[in-house]
Amino acid sequence: MTTSREIHLAARPHGWPTAETFRLVTVDVPDPGPGQVVIHNQFMSVDPYMRGRMNDGPSYAPPYEVGKVMHGRAVGEVVESDDPALPVGRMVLHEAGWREYAVIDGRHATPVDPAAVPTVSAYLGALGMPGLTAYVGLLDMAAFQPGDTVFVSGAAGAVGSVVGQIAKARGAARVIGSAGSATKVAHLHQLGFDAAFDYHDGPVMAQLAQAAPDGISVYFDNVGTDHLEAAINSLRPFGRVALCGAISVYNATEAPAAPRNLGMAVGKRLTLRGFIVSDHADRRDAFLTEMGEWIRTGQVQVNETIVDGLEKAPDAFLGMLRGENLGKMVVRI
Ligand code: NAP
Repeated sequence: MTTSREIHLAARPHGWPTAETFRLVTVDVPDPGPGQVVIHNQFMSVDPYMRGRMNDGPSYAPPYEVGKVMHGRAVGEVVESDDPALPVGRMVLHEAGWREYAVIDGRHATPVDPAAVPTVSAYLGALGMPGLTAYVGLLDMAAFQPGDTVFVSGAAGAVGSVVGQIAKARGAARVIGSAGSATKVAHLHQLGFDAAFDYHDGPVMAQLAQAAPDGISVYFDNVGTDHLEAAINSLRPFGRVALCGAISVYNATEAPAAPRNLGMAVGKRLTLRGFIVSDHADRRDAFLTEMGEWIRTGQVQVNETIVDGLEKAPDAFLGMLRGENLGKMVVRI
């Protein structure tokens, strides 16, 4: 190959990104330098955190550069190699997504075993960063215990669906999920959730109170605002909250109104703990062992929505933000 297509950030969005935010560009593929490999990407991930990288401002990671190729996780095959540890034909996980061919230092690519998973894209979802986020967030940040009553928002997505399934596998008394459509609610029941509701069907606070009449002990927050407010209302004394994300405000141009009841956290002695998965690489081995077993035994289902074609990656990203994905949204390149 001599050329590769890739997606550049064309302009920083204000509010919702549009087609004009992205540009499809064809570039020459350079020869690999010392220690480098050329990777033919097969699947790339689109994730909510990428919306934050499009903004120019202080964050826990640097922003994407306007006019430059975007990046994110991808799985692909080594097709040229100057790294003896990564021979041609090896499948690897790496951070140079949003492009057909990646030329990177071999030390920045992690070998993965295609035979160990139903599809290699699982290394972008249940067996990858979103799965580890669910594992660390529920077990470590929210200090999950068997017998807990767990509420998770964004429950039909990549992280949320794994949170609910881990909670069931680890002995939760009751698992409740919220999601954005009747199809997703039905899917949550099929995954083993005890109760689920569509947050469009009425106020989250009332729907959660109905689904959890005895309250909840753990909330895994993927959404923020009205969902966090409802959870604070339903949490029992000494309840724990893993603050994982707040997708309801990622495209907002004004400060959110909710939660208005944070003061209740004092009297209820709640713990609300934010976290970023990249701080928890030490949990990766335990996660891979336990999650690999749950997937093999069917206790955790690997669900994904696949969009075909690098040129469709912006649509896949926007679709994920709009809720068009069931499970992990990935692009097949
Ligand atoms: P995902 O849930 O697979 O996809 C995003 C989902 O968000 C959509 O499918 C949509 O589903 C839902 N959504 C969009 N707008 C919403 C709104 N206004 N209110 C309620 N739901 C809305 O994405 P994911 O990768 O698993 O990420 C889930 C959350 O975890 C995000 O907040 C993300 O930022 C966070 N996260 C945090 C870390 C960390 O280290 N802290 C790591 C990974 C992910 P519906 O159809 O249900 O609306």
